[in-house]
Amino acid sequence: RPRSSLVDDEEGGVLFYSTPPPSSSYGYANLEKQRQRLPVFKYRTAILYLVEYHSTVIIVGETGSGKTTQIPQYLKEAGWAEGGRLIACTQPRRLAVQSVASRVAEEMGVKIGEEVGYTIRFEDKTVQGVTKIKFLTDGVLLREMMDDPLLTKYSVIMVDEAHERSISTDMLLGLLKKIQRRRPELRLIISSATIEAESMSNFFRTRKKNGHATDDNGLKMEPSILSVEGKGYPVEIHYVQEPVSDYLQSAVDTVLLIHEKEAVGDVLVFLTGQEEIDAAVQILVEKASDKTSHFSGLLVLPLYSGLSRSDQDLIFSQTPKGKRKVVISTNIAETSLTLEGVVFVVDSGFSKQRFYNPISDIENLVVAPISKASAKQRAGRAGRVRSGKCFRLYTEDYFVKEMPAEGIPEMQRSNLVSSVIQLKALGIDNILGFDWLASPPPESMIRALEVLYSLGILDEDAKLTTPSGFQVAEIPLDPMVSKMIIAADTLGCSEEILTIAAVLSVQSIWVSVRGKHKGLDEVKLRFAAAEGDHVTHLNVYKGFLQSGKSSQWCYKNYINYHAMKKVVDTREQLCRLVRRLGIVLKSCQGDTQTIRKAILAGFFSHASQLEEYSQNGMYKTVRNSQEVYIHPSSVLFRVNPKWVVYHSLVSTDKHYMHNVIAIDPSWLIEAAPHFYQLKRPNPAIF
Ligand code: ADP
Ligand code: MG
Repeated sequence: RPRSSLVDDEEGGVLFYSTPPPSSSYGYANLEKQRQRLPVFKYRTAILYLVEYHSTVIIVGETGSGKTTQIPQYLKEAGWAEGGRLIACTQPRRLAVQSVASRVAEEMGVKIGEEVGYTIRFEDKTVQGVTKIKFLTDGVLLREMMDDPLLTKYSVIMVDEAHERSISTDMLLGLLKKIQRRRPELRLIISSATIEAESMSNFFRTRKKNGHATDDNGLKMEPSILSVEGKGYPVEIHYVQEPVSDYLQSAVDTVLLIHEKEAVGDVLVFLTGQEEIDAAVQILVEKASDKTSHFSGLLVLPLYSGLSRSDQDLIFSQTPKGKRKVVISTNIAETSLTLEGVVFVVDSGFSKQRFYNPISDIENLVVAPISKASAKQRAGRAGRVRSGKCFRLYTEDYFVKEMPAEGIPEMQRSNLVSSVIQLKALGIDNILGFDWLASPPPESMIRALEVLYSLGILDEDAKLTTPSGFQVAEIPLDPMVSKMIIAADTLGCSEEILTIAAVLSVQSIWVSVRGKHKGLDEVKLRFAAAEGDHVTHLNVYKGFLQSGKSSQWCYKNYINYHAMKKVVDTREQLCRLVRRLGIVLKSCQGDTQTIRKAILAGFFSHASQLEEYSQNGMYKTVRNSQEVYIHPSSVLFRVNPKWVVYHSLVSTDKHYMHNVIAIDPSWLIEAAPHFYQLKRPNPAIF
């Protein structure tokens, strides 16, 4: 399949589309026709009118109606990007940012990164003065406020996928409302796939108290709501008769049944995460590889973030004649990305969701039931091209009586450390009094303030005043990681620590293998360092560079090549960023004690001690004596040093420490005397 020459080939993660690039006038005209067939096209004039006369417009429209790809183009056509101004469109997900940006670039017949660009953390594909439409994550836009609090370079900001209620979207809406008070000419478009429009509208209406209905230029401050009528076809819903015990197996069986019994049309299956999706793909691919069976007509593809580009590439391509495409996806395909040709949806009823417990301070991604609102969205994906069917792998009774109507906003189930420091850096001191769309739990707030205080980022009045506090706020990473980077500057090991920070920012540098894998374990020993995982990461990074960044080398060593390339990129970006903060790059020449001390400067509160007579490697955390264990993926698993510091805790059957290093307990007092001497006198240390 020919690749679009319009998309930069060098960068990983960019999606390619099956539609031919508009190099020939025929291709372009074709795309133009496609654009005009979208439901949102009929509302073009209405949308532009509303944006002209209202400061805030809320647009509700079904997934696939053209909100994301069309509205920014309409705005540009109407002149909103003239005079060096920018049109922004935010997305909660990085993959969606890249995907829609390259689609829009293609429709406009321009090269991505020029007139149409995108920015995600550690990757900026925009050119100042050239880019007119910019797609970005809501998190990146929040960061931009630190340099430009009123976001002056934007004329219109479209906050897309607002129904997802991501933590950054919620913060952004509160802040944008504030900005509009100072900059009424800034237009906001809030777009959503579901009718949460009323509450959004009320949220933006409350400012009327001290303001007027219109500003001096006749701009209406009242938000207006526009509903885009979709052209969704009816979808027949099927439920299981009895609850299923294994939804993965059940999903696979359902796909096979659809292929046997139903007419042509692609299948979209919703499972929860990469491992599960890969497992389902594998089973189905095996079935399909039997050329003698009719299952050979199945073309099975996974869809999740962090997918290699060639895999992403296939998702959007047209299904070959005589084949049935089966895409097995996380909930990214629920509303963020539209797949054409889907007629059947299989809905497991679950998704991976973040849950945070402020008492134990554990944030987990857990498989949890979806809401009715999500289930409706998923079913809707079957009615894109003609009437379709949705197979729900749960009972009707469960759907009616037990499934929650709405999901819980991410704000209310997340660790808030990063959010709090960002608000503080933006000068918002009264965080509880902030204008939240939904209030965060006070326990999580207090916990976040405690953490930031113990890191020396906030002072006793919970204010951001110290220079290192501002530096931490500038680095777009978990404040504990940022603190570690700043400490490395003083200790003279910033080169090493930046590598570690880059590795910790990718999911895993190892190839994922299900269950126990001898090959991987043996390979890990080659790189393993007695000090622990962070130092092991340094060894892998060194090996990768010495191999000339070879994919062959990665393959031989069970190392994820894409992840390593991402590490190299991220590290480069981080180096540039910290240099701006005045940090000097310096290597400690492999002095692992210094490296570990720098890690401790950020992670001193994550120390645990091995239980003296423990037979099974049980540790207790110093902070709150919680039972924890070293995760089997760690190089220190079974080594069980007496004292360790971990990067994160993850609970499954037990609480597991991920990424662990061995330390000397005396370093703890050195790193954080205030924390260890005043708060937690531990007889084992003294
Ligand atoms: P919305 O934001 O309302 O969900 P989009 O603007 O994302 O809708 O999509 C509008 C239409 O654009 C889709 O129905 C599809 O036809 C087309 N489209 C979007 N992304 C792609 C893509 N990556 N490849 C091919 N077509 C696409
Ligand atoms: Mg969209």
